[in-house]
Amino acid sequence: MNFTTGKQLLDLCTEKNMTISQAMFLRETEYLEQDSVEITQKMEHAYNIMKQSIQRSLNEDLIGMGGMIGGESKKLNALRKSNKNICGPLVSKAITYAVGVLEVNASMGLIVAAPTAGSSGVIPGVLCAAQEEYNFEDALIIQALFTASAIGYLITRNATTAGAEGGCQAEVGSASAMAAAAMTQLMGGTPAQCLDAASFALINILGLVCDPVGGLVEVPCQNRNAMGASNALISAELALSGIPSVVPIDEAVEVMYRVGRSLPVSLRETAQGGTAIAPSACHACKTKWKLHS
Ligand code: SF4
Repeated sequence: MNFTTGKQLLDLCTEKNMTISQAMFLRETEYLEQDSVEITQKMEHAYNIMKQSIQRSLNEDLIGMGGMIGGESKKLNALRKSNKNICGPLVSKAITYAVGVLEVNASMGLIVAAPTAGSSGVIPGVLCAAQEEYNFEDALIIQALFTASAIGYLITRNATTAGAEGGCQAEVGSASAMAAAAMTQLMGGTPAQCLDAASFALINILGLVCDPVGGLVEVPCQNRNAMGASNALISAELALSGIPSVVPIDEAVEVMYRVGRSLPVSLRETAQGGTAIAPSACHACKTKWKLHS
């Protein structure tokens, strides 16, 4: 059981009448030569870490190593609880949790780099919010995580998930595509719809540069995780409605890679362009770093 493209994955799902998560699960058991219990336990462990990182951000006073972020998830949570939030319960929770995981990451806490540390808030944000809002059992979320993994595997194999290589579109964009496919499956979407959701998510973020202030994964990374989570939910909803993607996932991945490689070096994680060189960002680097060190 193997596939290297979205087309092969979809053909496999159609031929064997299986979901993307089932196809990915079988691939993992065969490729890693581990039994299904081990593979499931590993994914359960990852999901538990995701949930714990969200709880830490809501219950502890975290501050990033660079001193530029910390406490944002608590603020968003308070806004939602006061019913003054704009986005509605699912999206508001998703963005709260996504920024929270970035606080844990920036303070050197334990997160799941899915697919990278810089984009580690998107998948937990979407899936934990969805679990709470729709009462999904853990087992269903674990299955959805295998669907997310399949998308991450396809992107890693055929392009990149590294900001240094493809810009933020490759990091947060990939996380968003992974979460979009997972969410689509959770809501009963077909394998084709899951892949379309992933394609929508990638293309929606196409061209996003990597420009971390001070070279730290804090600003604008944290807010981009919130954006990536909401993009995933929007993309899932588009696909679930039956809107087909004109550009299939394999082409979306290729396009993302090509755009990423054509970005100037200053916009690929070097902190030499974009937000990183805004005067106020440079000032914040000097003052916050000094205060925090
Ligand atoms: S801006 Fe760069 S470092 Fe920050 S999340 Fe995006 S890709 Fe990662």
